[in-house]
Amino acid sequence: MSNLERTLSIIKPDAVERNLDDQIKKMFENQGFKIIKEKKIQIEKSEAESFYKVHETKPFFNDLCTYLSSGPIVVMILQKENAVLANRKLMGATNPKNAEQGTIRRKYGISIDKNSVHGSDSIENAKTEIDFFFKE
Ligand code: UDP
Ligand code: MG
Repeated sequence: MSNLERTLSIIKPDAVERNLDDQIKKMFENQGFKIIKEKKIQIEKSEAESFYKVHETKPFFNDLCTYLSSGPIVVMILQKENAVLANRKLMGATNPKNAEQGTIRRKYGISIDKNSVHGSDSIENAKTEIDFFFKE
C-alpha cells in the first residue's frame, strides 16, 4: 500500500551559516525525498515563537526562538512514503551526541540547540507546519 506523505523540514541557522544546505538537501534526495517547495528566509522572533508554540513552557523556549530567528533558514516541503517518520529517522536524535551514524544531526549537528535541522513529529503537525510557511 502506498502512503505518500508530506512533512516540513527546516535547515536551521547553524547549518545555513556553514553553507551546508546543498549537502543536507542531497541527503534528503539520496533517501528518496522529493523537495516539493523550498525557500530561504529569515523569520522574526515573534514568528519563531508562534512556530514553536508547543514548547512555550519549556526552559529553552526563549533561546530557541532567538536562535531560529538569528539568521537565514531553508524551509522545505518534503514528500516520500511515510515522510514524517522517514525524516525523523534521517535527522537523528535531538541531541547530536545521541544521534546514530549516517543521520544529519550526527554528521552536522553542533549541540542540542544547534542541531542543524527541524522536522515535523506527526502527520497533524506536518500539516500545520506546512501551512505556517507555505499557505497561499
Ligand atoms: N532544544 C534545546 N534544548 C533542549 C531541547 C530542545 O535547545 O533541551 C531545541 C532543539 O533545537 C530542538 C528544539 O528545541 O530541535 C525542539 O525540541 P524538540 O524536543 O521538539 O526536538 P526535535 O523535535 O527538534 O528533535
Ligand atoms: Mg519537535
